[in-house]
Amino acid sequence: MITKQLIAPKSIVVVGGSDDTHKPGGATLKNLINTNYAGEIYVVNPKCDTVQGVPSYRDINDLPSVDCAILAIPAKMCLQAVETLCNKKACKAIIILSAGFKEDSKEGAELERKIAEICNSTGTSLIGPNCVGVITQNYTGVFIQPIPKINPKGATLISGSGATIVFILEAAMQLGLHFSQVFSVGNCAQIGVEDALQYTDENYVPGESSPVIMLYIESISDPEKLARHAGSLIQKGARIAAIKAGYSEAGSRAASSHTGALASPDKAVDALFRKTGIVRCYSRTELVTVAAAMMYPEPKGRKIAIITHAGGPAVMQTDVLSSNGIEIPHISGGKADELLGKLYLGSSVANPIDFLATGTAEQLGYILDACENDFDVDAMTIIFGNPGLSTVYDVYDLIYNKIQSSKKPIYPVLPSIVNARDEIAAFQEKGGISFPDEVALGSAIAKIMNRPEPITDRTLPPVDKKLIREIIDSSENGYLATEKVAALLDASGINRTREMKASTQEDALKAAREIGYPVVMKVIGPVHKSDVGGVSLNISDDNVLLTEFDRMDKISGAKGVLIQPMLTGTEIFVGAKRENKFGHLILCGLGGIYVEALKDISHSLSPVSRTEADEMIRSLKSIKLIEGTRGKEGVNMVMFNEVIRRVSALCEAAPEIFEMDINPLLGNARNIIAVDARIRIEKD
Ligand code: ADP
Ligand code: MG
Repeated sequence: MITKQLIAPKSIVVVGGSDDTHKPGGATLKNLINTNYAGEIYVVNPKCDTVQGVPSYRDINDLPSVDCAILAIPAKMCLQAVETLCNKKACKAIIILSAGFKEDSKEGAELERKIAEICNSTGTSLIGPNCVGVITQNYTGVFIQPIPKINPKGATLISGSGATIVFILEAAMQLGLHFSQVFSVGNCAQIGVEDALQYTDENYVPGESSPVIMLYIESISDPEKLARHAGSLIQKGARIAAIKAGYSEAGSRAASSHTGALASPDKAVDALFRKTGIVRCYSRTELVTVAAAMMYPEPKGRKIAIITHAGGPAVMQTDVLSSNGIEIPHISGGKADELLGKLYLGSSVANPIDFLATGTAEQLGYILDACENDFDVDAMTIIFGNPGLSTVYDVYDLIYNKIQSSKKPIYPVLPSIVNARDEIAAFQEKGGISFPDEVALGSAIAKIMNRPEPITDRTLPPVDKKLIREIIDSSENGYLATEKVAALLDASGINRTREMKASTQEDALKAAREIGYPVVMKVIGPVHKSDVGGVSLNISDDNVLLTEFDRMDKISGAKGVLIQPMLTGTEIFVGAKRENKFGHLILCGLGGIYVEALKDISHSLSPVSRTEADEMIRSLKSIKLIEGTRGKEGVNMVMFNEVIRRVSALCEAAPEIFEMDINPLLGNARNIIAVDARIRIEKD
């Protein structure tokens, strides 16, 4: 719970505040004082009567009532302090900077649990432990440096790691980003990333609140909550960029030893972010670049003009933008010629617009005006550095003013971080946001513009839920029997091939004749039939059928055979895997032997919307093969889409499904038919 005392406390006590500003207690107090916190400040320090000029209480019991407490004392002393603050001092917000809790030991975890219990039962916000603190519009409750500029329109930063927040802030300040609030949630004993996001969502005022939210997440404990609030924020007009660290196996281990958090399966994270419209980033540089680009109004279309006085960076930016589907349209015609006439000889306006190393602020003004009024582009980037001959204040002033007045976004790349350090500082001092690297900016712009639309559609094709429940409820954990799998596919409206079970030679002959040659024979029992020689294709007469029956009968674990018609078509695959709190990941790809060999699989989180299923199919590398290529008949895309969504609907009706795959389905232009399926259930 986030109380008003956490956001806007009228009084703050630093428990463990000291004169030594190299210690967290001393540094926090110094930050509060230096940032002109307007409320009352107290200190608890058993050794002093004043600390940094602030009255200090030697005994916490002597404190007056206080809204918010920041604890910088050893872990083992925190419980007693929290009890006193919550029960006797009307304190409604506790921030524990100290480490030595869940991330450290069992005893630490127990202490942390007890502290959270007190806070929960007294309606007190608890941030941390093991964090760097909180910055709001009202106070700077952190021990770290640097302190960013605080501004209601600045970004919101929510981080699961304290140290990382420092580095993110440093990287962000280099671009001139301001912040409206910063939450370092540490061990999340009570308030986690999801709760801070919920608070941001519930207090979001479109047009007034910070439009950009940056997340650094090590563990997602409540994916549903994260998705709900991220989705709602995005609906209201906010944009969210997030790092989810620990996507590699080694990374996952690092995360668990770090904050005691368990890493979530990465594909599910990816799917959740896509569904919600969160832009996923993989480094601090990328996170701050994307967030800084998000601070600019979004381009109305996909055409960008690149303006520069240096050819190379413009070429590199063209490469990254155009290879990500952003257009750098050729500019020509009367208006272009008119502009060219105002530039030095040798300039080019074709796009990139190059006005040479000697280009002036006045010329840049003409170029920007032409891009805004005359040329068919939706945004401009300007790459303008300083070779060291003179200062570029006039150019950066012009860029700043044009950014304010232009209806199209203008992204400035100011690459001379040494030569033009002072000019960049002056540009940022006024509130300008700039980028040191043209390629990093280009890929950030592309990432923002290519992000998927958030998915709100939760409707799925109708399935026979009652029958599905009956089958699941009457089944044991593990792989389901062939008949049950068949019944579940039928209940879900997924076409499957006709098949007959046979346990004697006579039954097999009867089945084959009834189905009609050529047929397929499959062993019943082993899970991976081909691996044990348990699939025989294209059987065309009684002799082969009988020989094959005898052979399969001897396979270890054989419990009879299945006879199916021999079908033709392109092999595709649809599967599902339960990812705990994320629900089911639904997968699809090219089927048969290709699934494992090519790993060309796409995924979405259930419930899979029609748009998502379409995107899943379209994003496969093998899409050309599935669509049909060079005279080969393709798979019916509408039906493929529907099978994906029917598997999703089956999983929604049967959360007990731990994993399932239908592999292959044989598809052509008219039909898609499942010929093999496995379903494993795991009831809690
Ligand atoms: P498993 O996956 O257990 O090895 P399958 O039933 O998927 O067994 O069969 C293996 C392969 O045989 C399939 O990938 C497909 O290529 C082919 N196959 C299986 N059933 C049929 C069928 N009825 N018609 C045509 N080909 C089939
Ligand atoms: Mg198979």
